[in-house]
Amino acid sequence: MSVMIRIPTPLRPYVGGSKQVDGQAGTVEGVLAALAQQYPDLQRHLFSEQGKLRSFVNVYLGDEDVRYLKGTETVVPDGATLSIVPSVAGGAVGHSHNGVVDVTLSNEEIRRYSRHLIMPEVGMGGQKRLKSGSVLLVGAGGLGSPAAMYLAAAGVGRIGIMDFDVVDESNLQRQIIHGMSTLGKSKLESARARIHDINPFIQVDTYEELLTSENATRIFADYDVIADGTDNFPTRYLVNDACVLLGKPNVYGSIFRFEGQASVFWAERGPCYRCLYPEPPPPGLVPSCAEGGVLGVLPGVIGVIQATEVVKLLIGEGESLVGRLLLYDALDMKFRELKLRKDPTCPICGEHPTIDHLIDYEAFCGTSLRGVDNTDTTPITTDEISVKDLQQRMNAGLQGATLLDVREPHEWEIVRLPGAKLIPRMQLPNHLNELSQTDDLLVYCRSGVRSAQAVAFLKSMGFRKARNIRGGILAWAREVDPSSPVY
Ligand code: ZN
Repeated sequence: MSVMIRIPTPLRPYVGGSKQVDGQAGTVEGVLAALAQQYPDLQRHLFSEQGKLRSFVNVYLGDEDVRYLKGTETVVPDGATLSIVPSVAGGAVGHSHNGVVDVTLSNEEIRRYSRHLIMPEVGMGGQKRLKSGSVLLVGAGGLGSPAAMYLAAAGVGRIGIMDFDVVDESNLQRQIIHGMSTLGKSKLESARARIHDINPFIQVDTYEELLTSENATRIFADYDVIADGTDNFPTRYLVNDACVLLGKPNVYGSIFRFEGQASVFWAERGPCYRCLYPEPPPPGLVPSCAEGGVLGVLPGVIGVIQATEVVKLLIGEGESLVGRLLLYDALDMKFRELKLRKDPTCPICGEHPTIDHLIDYEAFCGTSLRGVDNTDTTPITTDEISVKDLQQRMNAGLQGATLLDVREPHEWEIVRLPGAKLIPRMQLPNHLNELSQTDDLLVYCRSGVRSAQAVAFLKSMGFRKARNIRGGILAWAREVDPSSPVY
């Protein structure tokens, strides 16, 4: 009356190094609970503090994932084999955990991938692992563009892409998967067409939705590797936490102006994003690319590094960026590398995790996943003024008001509002004596984020009549003067 339980490599130290141990027939839950009782060190690897099977531990009865049977209630009959498979295991991720990949390459594919096949590090085995592998690209923008194209060319069998944007002219400076022919179309459709033009053998699954705590687990669960190409903190933490909870590697890339970062966060093998940055910066402290700009070729470098890491993880070769943060400075043309350590007190991957489910990341970061400006339909507050009201004040000659531009001089060169005075936000503290405490101070920037911070600062310095121009110069161009350039 016994069943066989296969133990994955990472858990073998807790069962005396055994590849398999015997257990008693029963439900999956019963078999695993008895196993954890016999080997107490396994307990916290298999079960959460609430006693639930951890979400990154998959259990197979024979070759069936028990989640598709009756979950932990599934009965394990006498003589059956139960396999514990953290969603990633072994040298490579995904379908290759037992070393056998059940796909074949057609003659056409063999011709296509011949430069891979003649390399011993890839070869037929590696190419099959790529074909049976899957990657989810969160974002089809600057980083997702080159990553998707190279991963498709390399032969990664299934590429998922999440995005909910349409292709805009301002994207084409760096988002090379899109082009003039797809302006105004959904980025997903644009990316899918380009990928299939590169490689028709690739399955492309698209998700035209915002990544949320509600859909992340469902969507991520289906992929071997997640590549994070987003540009906001709530999504970064959400991607990280979902990956940690599911046991998936998170291939991370970020870009800003001339600098990029890349790493692989994989809690089972090393630190996660929260080990590196336990808390998000206060909203607005770190500007996004939309606010700070980005050199067009930079995401090419970082996105291709991400693609390289995805390929290595799928074929199980080389040293991944787990535990290392690669820093790239395009101006100096220098790469540096930092060692990352797993934080034992990390709230999600540490020794006593306090986060066992996805949270509200917008609240956590104090910001919005959708960004500001054109989606902001909340009522105007007393600290704000709409661009329409500003237009009326301007038509009346701006009496008793100062129009203050807190952007940078190079933005002022692109476009400015008539009658405005320029004091960049960071220089405000040194120029307060140039501002009147009795006048209305109407403050704007590009989209309304920096100016909101400037207004908060000015109020704290006694300028009670400071008000933020909601939506900034972008809202002005949209709602008042369509001839005004946008950038
Ligand atoms: Zn961590």
